[in-house]
Amino acid sequence: MTSLFNNYARRSVHLVKGQGTIVTDDQGKEYLDFTSGIAVVSLGHAHPAIVKTLQEQSEKLWHISNLFESPEQEKLAETLTKETDLACALFCNSGTEANEAAIKLARKHTGKHHILTFKQSFHGRTFGAMAATGQEKIQQGFGPMLEGFEWLPFNDTDALENAVNEKTAAIMLEVIQGEGGVNSIEPVFAKAIMEACEKFGILLIIDEVQTGIGRTGTRYAYEQTALKPDIVTLAKGLGGGFPIGALLAGKELFDTFGPGSHGTTFGGNLLAVSVAQTVVDHVFEPAFLQGVQDKSTYLKQQLTAALPADNYSLRGNGLLIGIHSNEEIGPVIQKAEKQGLLLVPAGTNVIRLLPPLTVTNEEIDQAVAILKKILV
Ligand SMILES: *Cc1c(COP(=O)(O)O)cnc(C)c1O
Repeated sequence: MTSLFNNYARRSVHLVKGQGTIVTDDQGKEYLDFTSGIAVVSLGHAHPAIVKTLQEQSEKLWHISNLFESPEQEKLAETLTKETDLACALFCNSGTEANEAAIKLARKHTGKHHILTFKQSFHGRTFGAMAATGQEKIQQGFGPMLEGFEWLPFNDTDALENAVNEKTAAIMLEVIQGEGGVNSIEPVFAKAIMEACEKFGILLIIDEVQTGIGRTGTRYAYEQTALKPDIVTLAKGLGGGFPIGALLAGKELFDTFGPGSHGTTFGGNLLAVSVAQTVVDHVFEPAFLQGVQDKSTYLKQQLTAALPADNYSLRGNGLLIGIHSNEEIGPVIQKAEKQGLLLVPAGTNVIRLLPPLTVTNEEIDQAVAILKKILV
């Protein structure tokens, strides 16, 4: 026994520093970090701009209460919603908390509590987000679940049409299911979702906790689809490594969260908001997003050339790429680590590639060479 709970299957590597895509362990061994802390370290480790922001803000003021006005939060909210149909934001500390807020907002706004979500989704570990998550293994042992959720097969238009009605408050989905195996929404299904939402006045909640803030090559992944969300949730990449989550919503929802209706002590903490502002200012630059798309194309080309098509297929967009294998990929993750490449799985047979958005083509070449050595 150790003095830490055993709730993570921890690997026996102790990482002590990082720079860009490279992390170093306590033995001085270097690794290419193609996990980026599970889509968190969007600008790479120790990016000079965010280090500077954090240093400067830490000398001014760390934390005030949300009882005081916050031009800093206001500015970040404006940056996140600019040139979208979304109009307002509130800040919290994690993905699951952003989703809790989304569920509460949808219930309060519609006066209904029936929410449709999808199998293989992942929305978090707190009671609302866990109930929304369509995976038995996440819910096992924690019942009874929060009422009102129904988990439909993803990309199944018939199942969707049979399930929606006047009682449906919201549909909640990931544009690309990250934890569930890097499964992208199909264009016909996205259209069917929009038709259902319009027909019954259903709110659309898009969980962009993993796909948001440039990860898929656009600011938000939904921008590449026909989906028009009423509510968007963010976390992971938003703080580039500093914990922060956000809920964005259309202006019709503005009045639903009045004073005292929802909140959190740490939400929108000055350190978190100042770092997130720097991250978003970098990532939302059109040239930066174009760079993510170019690197994605390059990564896919190199992987396609390196891996036998009979055994491996690629999924995903931007720098959220899944290599789907016919076999269990646990051993691959271990071998890659020995060779100096850090990877995360998605489910049992998908290798997930989530490099920092600042990864270089040379680093992509090195990672693909390691994968080729192991997989071919
Ligand atoms: C990681 C994740 C969450 C949960 O975020 P936490 O910050 O771990 O609570 C929710 N939704 C999606 C899509 C995620 O990938």
